[in-house]
Amino acid sequence: MNSEEISVIKKLLNTVKKIVVVGHKNPDGDAIGSCLGLSNFLRQLGHQVTTVMPNDFPVFLKWIPEASEIINLEQDSQKTISAINEADLIFTLDFNALHRTGDLEEYLEKATADFILIDHHQKPDDYAVVIYSDVAMCSTSEMVFHFMEYLDRINFLNKEIATQLYVGIMTDTGSFRYPATTATTHRVIANLIEAGAKNSTIHQNVYDTNSPDRLKLLGVALNNMVMLPEYKTAYITISQEELNENNFKKGDTEGFVNYALSMTGVVFAAIFIENKKEDIVKISLRSKGSFSVNDFSRNHFNGGGHINAAGGRSLTSLNQTVTNFISLLPDYKSALNES
Ligand code: 5GP
Ligand code: MN
Repeated sequence: MNSEEISVIKKLLNTVKKIVVVGHKNPDGDAIGSCLGLSNFLRQLGHQVTTVMPNDFPVFLKWIPEASEIINLEQDSQKTISAINEADLIFTLDFNALHRTGDLEEYLEKATADFILIDHHQKPDDYAVVIYSDVAMCSTSEMVFHFMEYLDRINFLNKEIATQLYVGIMTDTGSFRYPATTATTHRVIANLIEAGAKNSTIHQNVYDTNSPDRLKLLGVALNNMVMLPEYKTAYITISQEELNENNFKKGDTEGFVNYALSMTGVVFAAIFIENKKEDIVKISLRSKGSFSVNDFSRNHFNGGGHINAAGGRSLTSLNQTVTNFISLLPDYKSALNES
């Protein structure tokens, strides 16, 4: 943020405000961590803060401090809509366009509040009075730490915020291994540990929570994996029936796509997950090197994200989606082989 943007924010936060902090649909660790961290900070500044999500989030994030205070449109529609309508100020975190909030979009569009965007995805939309966007950042949670620094209020960092932001940074960096993880990220993490984040416990709470059902579903996914060596590509499919057979719960397929990407010689990995309720196929794309899955998803699957991690959706059947995906690869052959 430049000094002008910082002073706009300082001015907005100078008087007590009703504030809503909102994350994206199907919130992940970074959405939950960054929203909770910012909410805690803003409450310490004396504001009245409501943390809002479009829908529920996975069990492996429920233990995070203050996670139980989050309300979502799906389960608490009246409270959620009122909070948005009554807000003076709305912070939107970890997404770049209002449609990423699903059914919340229409209420956010009607809101009279000023918006502030904090996010690290490509191409942020222009709906906020301050756009704190930095696509080089590993996570929105790291940005919330810097946001507190910009406001000269890093002394407000407490154990809860430290834990919340640690979760966001850890999950969005694949435990500090993706290229966007910088020396600064590690310095921020050092600060969070000093402020009370229990790093080892946090890793256990998030990653060592497998159910037998999830591991069986992983078995199904790995069994369905297809390699396309010519394109340095591997993909996984999971049908609605396979989800049902393994008692699928939200979050169970998180990280599956990374197994495809972990194979020697693979630079592009995809997972296609059938969702009969929404009548879509949810797609997650991952890459290594220069091949942009953000562009690939924008161009072909109504999605987006980052260069090496993006998501999207398809409105055709699972089979048709995969056929379509394979038919696109020849055009990318050289890009994939150079990635
Ligand atoms: P995931 O594959 O884990 O759902 O998402 C990977 C990245 O892409 C995340 O940063 C996520 O925010 C973004 N993403 C996922 N789905 C979509 C989508 O439908 N549209 C856009 N623009 N971004 C998405
Ligand atoms: Mn993120």
